[in-house]
Amino acid sequence: MRINSQIFNKQNNIQHKQQNFEAGMTAKILNQIETADTYKISNNLAKKGIDSDFKENKTLAWCCATAVALIEKINEKFGEKMELPEAIYVDDFTKMNISSSENTSGFCNFFPTPFLYKPEEFQFSKGNAVFFNSHETDIKKAPDGIKWFYDWKNISAISDIDFATGMSTTPHFLNVILHEFAHAIHENNILKNIDVEKMQKKFVNAISKINLYNFNIKNGEILEKDVCKYAATSPFEAIACDMPKKIIKSLDDELELTSNPFAKTIYSSNASEKIPEDSKTEADKLLSKIWDGEF
Ligand SMILES: [Zn+2]
Repeated sequence: MRINSQIFNKQNNIQHKQQNFEAGMTAKILNQIETADTYKISNNLAKKGIDSDFKENKTLAWCCATAVALIEKINEKFGEKMELPEAIYVDDFTKMNISSSENTSGFCNFFPTPFLYKPEEFQFSKGNAVFFNSHETDIKKAPDGIKWFYDWKNISAISDIDFATGMSTTPHFLNVILHEFAHAIHENNILKNIDVEKMQKKFVNAISKINLYNFNIKNGEILEKDVCKYAATSPFEAIACDMPKKIIKSLDDELELTSNPFAKTIYSSNASEKIPEDSKTEADKLLSKIWDGEF
């Protein structure tokens, strides 16, 4: 799944800090990122069964470890059953031959997939894996004025732009990470009811050009209003844009959870926290179907 940055237009050369929300980022967090040990983080994730390679990117390693800890806390403290991705990788999407790689900062790989790194050189990735773009090639190629946009150290300013352009639901710097995690959570929720083969067919069918067009015509207005512009582009983006908003709303300045983000929402798997049918808004009803794989 593509995320953010798609509206960013090199010609416009959006100035750094033009949108300055800097949501969630504090001096303390900046310091923790600066001193992060990416190998130690990978070792800790391995103990939880998550394979990772951050290519020494401290910002991504720290943010992903923080997102993993948040999901674990939501499950432990509030009895939810949100599943984590099985792998988190940082890689140069240009070298992976991902289309529109310079406009793609991350995606969730639902199924085991061969990626073509060089002609005839494939590398297989397991499914349920999230990828973040190192933008290594993009940084080299970009004019000086926009190099900053490809540098994850500027995750807070980049998140501001994503929010301002309707690509995300909050300007919080963790939004971009939680978006990819939400794809994995959604996939795993659908897989509770159907097998992998059926899921694969459903996925291919849902992302066909005509079905994406029809999805937008049918649901675009409600999703743009209640979630964000990007949520209206596919059923997968609808959920991946909506879930981070709920998680981030429940975080304090120290990134501690103040309440169950999924209480009285369509996502709760805790019976006592489920949203009553008669309290559901039109958007809830639509998202509820998508969450269960009805699309
Ligand atoms: Zn996405």
